[in-house]
Amino acid sequence: MTEVKTFDVQKLRADFPILAREVHGKPLVYLDNGASAQKPRCVIDSIRNTYEREYANVHRAAHELSAICTDKFEQARRSVQRFLNAPEDREVIFVRGTTEAINLVAQAWGRSSLKAGDEIVITAMEHHSNIVPWQMLCEQTGAKLRVAPMDQTGTLIFDEYLKLLNPRTRLVSVVHVSNALGTINPVKRMAAAAHQHGALVLVDGAQAAPHMRIDVQDLGVDFYAFSGHKAFGPSGIGALWGRAEVLEAMPPWHGGGEMIESVSFAKTTYAKIPHKFEAGTPSIADTIAMGVALEYLMEIGFDAMQAYEHELLEYATAQLSAIEGLRIIGTSADKAGVISFVLEGIHAADAGMILDEQGIAVRVGQHCAEPVMDFFKVPATIRASFAFYNTRAEVDALVKGIHKVKELFA
Ligand code: PLP
Repeated sequence: MTEVKTFDVQKLRADFPILAREVHGKPLVYLDNGASAQKPRCVIDSIRNTYEREYANVHRAAHELSAICTDKFEQARRSVQRFLNAPEDREVIFVRGTTEAINLVAQAWGRSSLKAGDEIVITAMEHHSNIVPWQMLCEQTGAKLRVAPMDQTGTLIFDEYLKLLNPRTRLVSVVHVSNALGTINPVKRMAAAAHQHGALVLVDGAQAAPHMRIDVQDLGVDFYAFSGHKAFGPSGIGALWGRAEVLEAMPPWHGGGEMIESVSFAKTTYAKIPHKFEAGTPSIADTIAMGVALEYLMEIGFDAMQAYEHELLEYATAQLSAIEGLRIIGTSADKAGVISFVLEGIHAADAGMILDEQGIAVRVGQHCAEPVMDFFKVPATIRASFAFYNTRAEVDALVKGIHKVKELFA
């Protein structure tokens, strides 16, 4: 708790120029961090610097600008390595984001490894990005998708998960933090159990990596995926970490430049990891800027940040729970800074519109988690998702905004 006191939110807010703007004449209250987070000045400056002073293609030319960009690009890989506490930087593959990372594993690993009757286990609280790629793979290979259930609080039923594991289980792919519910899954315990059956474990870290210390070695997983844009970096860039021996055994996914060792019309041989999985010119400035964002997060420190966000979550949960007719969807004991809720008799879209008029940005809808909505029998929720730059005053503004919604629609 002492760390929370030293966490200077106002100083950190000043790093984010957009937080000072108004929306519809009201101070912006940005509570849509789960969809995408805002960018600190160091990230914005990095992109500007690349294009103004250093831009060239990477890994190719023998000239100064290309050397600078290549150096910084590879530095970003080492930032991801440190960010995830990965053993080696060659285990970090740059991709467009979590969605692409999961599709890469499904297609490169899955198509070459699975056969009819094999099983993939996910949970009932996955984002569509961790459902659809596996369904596509199952159609292609004849493998079967199995879903570990959750209870009415949105907590994984661990015993039921264990019952799904068997020698046919080849992969467990699980969300670390649910974007629709905020639930933090016990990934380390899940991975240990999956490994006893010889299955690999992929973690969708889209909502976890920006908010908590990730240590892939401690978690004991095989793949970890996250998106730059949710981690205060640019959009269109993210990373897939995979254990070297697993990545090395996988065939490439996309073919093209950069991913080859030599090409002839008779035969092509592939580059070593990570380049084997990085065909084509990457998003250079964005990759470099994502590295800057991750360094910025590590500099703030995850212990202080996590404690602060947890305290904010508890405050917001208490304030919102006190509103009559408001029901929180997702009340697991172990939660990150996401609060999904419904208002009795009021459409989520109407609530979102009225909140927007007050400068309050929340997400309304199914949050790319339609099965979660079906489970809780709600068509949509209103979701406030927090970042370390949010404040109690912003929670108070949300509460005031909800009262206004109720006045207008109840
Ligand atoms: N997984 C989770 C849990 C998410 O919240 C999201 C995005 O909302 C994704 C995956 C997909 O991330 P992206 O759209 O950056 O690929």
